[in-house]
Amino acid sequence: MLEDKNQNKTSLAELGEFGLIDHITKYFKVEQPTTIKGVGDDAAVLAASEQQTLVTTDLLVEGVHFDLSYMPLKHLGYKSVMVNLSDVYAMNGTAAQITVSIAVSNRFPLEAIEELYAGIQLACDTYKIDLVGGDTTSSTKGILISVTAIGKANKEDIVFRNTAKETDLIVVSGDLGAAYLGLQVLEREKQVFKVNPNNQPDLDNYTYLIERQLKPEARKDIAGLLKELEVQPTSMIDISDGLSSELFHLCTQSKVGCKIYEDKLPLDPQVISACEEFELDSTMVALSGGEDYELLFTVPIGDFDKIKGNPNFSIIGHITEENQGLQLITRANQEIELKAQGWNTMKA
Ligand code: ADP
Ligand code: MG
Repeated sequence: MLEDKNQNKTSLAELGEFGLIDHITKYFKVEQPTTIKGVGDDAAVLAASEQQTLVTTDLLVEGVHFDLSYMPLKHLGYKSVMVNLSDVYAMNGTAAQITVSIAVSNRFPLEAIEELYAGIQLACDTYKIDLVGGDTTSSTKGILISVTAIGKANKEDIVFRNTAKETDLIVVSGDLGAAYLGLQVLEREKQVFKVNPNNQPDLDNYTYLIERQLKPEARKDIAGLLKELEVQPTSMIDISDGLSSELFHLCTQSKVGCKIYEDKLPLDPQVISACEEFELDSTMVALSGGEDYELLFTVPIGDFDKIKGNPNFSIIGHITEENQGLQLITRANQEIELKAQGWNTMKA
């Protein structure tokens, strides 16, 4: 589709690598006090701080992690930043800088890269992050985008995956499964479009689902909310591959088991109605649908009253002994062993 629209567009070859880098980075402002030197030299310079440094990277590949036929490039830019910020927030830290590396084929005109960077810039502005560097190269096919986020946290505030304790409560922020259903809706519209390109889709019933898929927000607010409640999580992880898969990581690394209650899983009403329409089991979707970018964490059982009833959080279960394994307690009070069916792109 992009090829057809390229007549009045600027080719990347015309601009050259340095022209392109200059063009896409010149509107980014540096705002973090720890950014001493951003884009423009051989390396960025960041001021050392008393706190510990958090570093995380994700690589997103066209056709594996996203499909440009329904993922606008601006959203892709935004989401690539969110995916990384989410990992910093999952350590209970704050993010300050990112680097962005891209490989693009000549099928993309300058205007496409501008769109991508408009999304990256919106993410930087919204989350108060500086873009401090990256790399730009060509690819033979498609687009790859790799973001590295740099953050910090006080040593005593950092929360790992491997420190959940028996009897801890298991908590998730927000709700689950919407991003996966958003993807199902977009996939379906893509198929409809192939058959009848004039069809105008009516997506009103799916706005939340599509937004969760195309414009996820990383939970920057959770660290502050927990501080206010005087709750220090005992372990934490972000939900990128689905609840089951993340519980599996958390429990395996902490050498514990868990019990999760089906009736406690937080579901948006749009998730429930879309599950009926797609004939999907909403529990399966909550457990195995990926890309929610919510936080999953454990807290001491004594913090029950501080978390209970807070609209940002759902207590979905508790940690058990390792030999109990990972159990889902269904509405019918049956115990089912959880499997780590993640959002495994390697299997796709
Ligand atoms: P080098 O040859 O040293 O790798 P580059 O010419 O690749 O330098 O990059 C010049 C400057 O532009 C560096 O500060 C680099 O971090 C930055 N940069 C390069 N590509 C990107 C990009 N896609 N996004 C943001 N900054 C970039
Ligand atoms: Mg370079």
